[in-house]
Amino acid sequence: MVKTFKIDLISDTSSKPTAGMRQAIANADVGDEQRGEDPSVIALCERSADLLGKEAALFLPSGTMCNQIALAVHCRPGDEIIASDTAHILTLEGAGAAVFAGSFINGIACDNGIFNRDQLMAALRKPSIKSPKARVVAIEQTTNRGGGAIWPLENIRDIAEIAHANEMVVHMDGARLLNAVVASGISAQDFCKPCDTTWLDLSKGLGCPVGGVLAGSKDFIDEALVWKFRLGGAMRQAGIVAAAGLYALDHHVERLAEDHDNAKLLADTLNGLEGFELTQPRVETNLIFFSVEKTGKTARDISEHLLEYGIRIGVEDQYGMRAVTHLDVSCDDIAFVCKTLKSLFG
Ligand SMILES: *Cc1c(COP(=O)(O)O)cnc(C)c1O
Repeated sequence: MVKTFKIDLISDTSSKPTAGMRQAIANADVGDEQRGEDPSVIALCERSADLLGKEAALFLPSGTMCNQIALAVHCRPGDEIIASDTAHILTLEGAGAAVFAGSFINGIACDNGIFNRDQLMAALRKPSIKSPKARVVAIEQTTNRGGGAIWPLENIRDIAEIAHANEMVVHMDGARLLNAVVASGISAQDFCKPCDTTWLDLSKGLGCPVGGVLAGSKDFIDEALVWKFRLGGAMRQAGIVAAAGLYALDHHVERLAEDHDNAKLLADTLNGLEGFELTQPRVETNLIFFSVEKTGKTARDISEHLLEYGIRIGVEDQYGMRAVTHLDVSCDDIAFVCKTLKSLFG
């Protein structure tokens, strides 16, 4: 039997479609997506391209496929991809860059998953017939394992300037781009402008059941479409899920601010507990990473203890934990989590 949790902070992917979203799904206009005949998919792609300030967009089953297809289009076998050493493409995608793009990822050690122009310059190799050719600089907005940190716009522009001067492209993993937009007040278009390609995840903070939208130039999307078919990502009446995406763009973007407020409240409580320590002290969006090492207990002990109260928080490693706020975690839920934490560990 699948266990249920009253309050599930393991990931923003655990949010379930709301009643309004289910209604939008039920009413979706659909057609054969593979033939380019699904009106809801077409509408979602047009809307996403606009939102991200790109010529074209492509609906895909997952964020991972958005990353993998982008890298496969950008790279040739033997190429190098530069990213943070905590990047999702490096740590959590089954070495897909090696499999599909025939390329390897050079991970830069940096704080919060964000590197600066000097760190990027240091990662560039002297051009030589014997050296790998760096083709892509990949960044994550927000940084997942970097603690939900927001790449400052100036920093993205700096990185892009160097990348473009060195015949590289910039790919932005936008799994939580809209969290960055809502938290910073900077538009998605502004964040995406220095980047050649980017994508949005519909199944994270936006609360859809599945899906991601990849965006870039018309030529890039034409090539990405070939990969979509090749990998089996071309679907049929996919409007059923695209309709959820359209609904989310109307109803679930502004509310991300509540998730950020809830994350800050929870972080403040964690900060005050004996032996708990925030590993990424600046909580800018909806991800909170913390260590319980100084409690003398392991992350697993703490997590199991909290499960007795219906609260699930993710175990990262022996002492590290991650809590994520989202659509299905209310203000009252966070108050209950904070109260429970204080009574158990305060
Ligand atoms: C979740 C996530 C992905 C992958 O998205 P899926 O839709 O789960 O495949 C990629 N990058 C980052 C930063 C993520 O958090």
